[in-house]
Amino acid sequence: QEHLLRAPFLARLYGTEASLQKEDLTTEGNSFKGHDMLAPFTAGWQSNDLDPLVIEKSEGSYVYDINGKKYLDTLAGLWCTSLGGNEPRLVAAATEQLNKLPFYHSFWNRTTKPSLDLAKELLETFTASKMAKAFFTNSGSEANDTQVKLVWYYNNALGRPNKKKFIARAKSYHGSTLIAASLSGLPALHQKFDLPAPFVRHTDCPHYWRYHLPGETEEEFSTRLAINLENLILKEGPETIAAFIAEPVMGAGGVIPPPATYFDKIQAVVKKYDILFIADEVICAFGRLGTMYGSDKFNIKPDLVTVAKALSSGYLPIGAVMVSPEVSDVIDSQSSKLGSFSHGFTYSGHPVACAVAIETLKIYKERNILDQVNRIAPKFQDGVKAFSDSPIIGEIRGTGLILGTEFVDNKSPNDPFPPEWGVGAYFGAQCEKEGMLVRVAGDNIMMSPPFIMSPEEVDEVYFCVEEPRFIPSLPAF
Ligand code: PLP
Repeated sequence: QEHLLRAPFLARLYGTEASLQKEDLTTEGNSFKGHDMLAPFTAGWQSNDLDPLVIEKSEGSYVYDINGKKYLDTLAGLWCTSLGGNEPRLVAAATEQLNKLPFYHSFWNRTTKPSLDLAKELLETFTASKMAKAFFTNSGSEANDTQVKLVWYYNNALGRPNKKKFIARAKSYHGSTLIAASLSGLPALHQKFDLPAPFVRHTDCPHYWRYHLPGETEEEFSTRLAINLENLILKEGPETIAAFIAEPVMGAGGVIPPPATYFDKIQAVVKKYDILFIADEVICAFGRLGTMYGSDKFNIKPDLVTVAKALSSGYLPIGAVMVSPEVSDVIDSQSSKLGSFSHGFTYSGHPVACAVAIETLKIYKERNILDQVNRIAPKFQDGVKAFSDSPIIGEIRGTGLILGTEFVDNKSPNDPFPPEWGVGAYFGAQCEKEGMLVRVAGDNIMMSPPFIMSPEEVDEVYFCVEEPRFIPSLPAF
């Protein structure tokens, strides 16, 4: 029981000074404390005082750290390694392309065969609404920045220079470049960065459990949010609102699936005021929800779509924007007038990344990846949701292969644990000790495992989740 006393919140309960032991969180043996990297989404004290977990090798649903310890990777890297950690066909596709043509760009009507082929293949995967063109980026953030530029270019071409504002949602995550971070509705991405940019407005987070009024049904909650969105549009002036952006299931904000009828009602409002709908499918695309896209699952008919991550199973950096015929026609004619569509990146349509993405899409098709996800998802969802009765778990939510667990006191969204107790961090550290990696954000635990996870590996998830089971039996709870 000794290790139980190390958690800050337990330390408080038991009146000891003990805190979470650094060994619980670090890689033993090799010290990389005070390393030279300014690490993303990491506090300075962490890189100085704590050894990072250094991952060295991956295999199927597992990763290994530098000391050879094995972890079930329930976050699939960073929501991306859909085909697991060592798919030989992706390595072969990259090697073949590297040997043939490691790089050529796609500027000024010069390009490469893999980028043309991928554009065609990718557009064919999206059937929720018609998409005419694909633009390639290196990341989801660049893709969302591109979305804003495309929409501004489009409205300028249509002679609507004031129709430029974007509406995103509280708790959304759209990336961390200036524009993508502005669209994101997470305060940490704005704090001290002088963001969000002034053209962005945020509307309600569609989290029923947390925000519904007493007695309000999911449908009524969705109606209220659609009315709030309409009121925001009217207050700002519909002629100033260019686009609405949404993740079908919110990911990094805590895994929040939409409440019943939400997207039907929101789309009706957006359409009424001639506002473009952007589906940010960076996490949801290619099967994570058991459908090819989140748009398929929730009957979303977007004008523009953002993808990245599972497009290459995370093996190489690539993102893309898909554009409807209506928008791309306007961009075509405007760029013809100007002599150029002056936007793009050196590595837009990088041939090696495109070759890997083509192979990834081919594997999804050949292996019926949707069937695979739908076979495993009920076991994954039901198994973890079986812990819902725990008195310190407020909600376990998700669909397909994405799941979020929120710890609160008294099962109430209004009773969070004091942040200094570190309940989520403690749980995450325990999972890490047990050999499982999860995403921790405050008192939220998130999982989005590889699509190839086996039923036996799902059993391992239960075991790891169950291990910290002593938490609910604490006297204070
Ligand atoms: N959009 C969504 C929904 C995401 O989840 C992410 C990353 O997690 C991004 C955009 C940003 O993608 P990237 O980190 O590749 O820039």
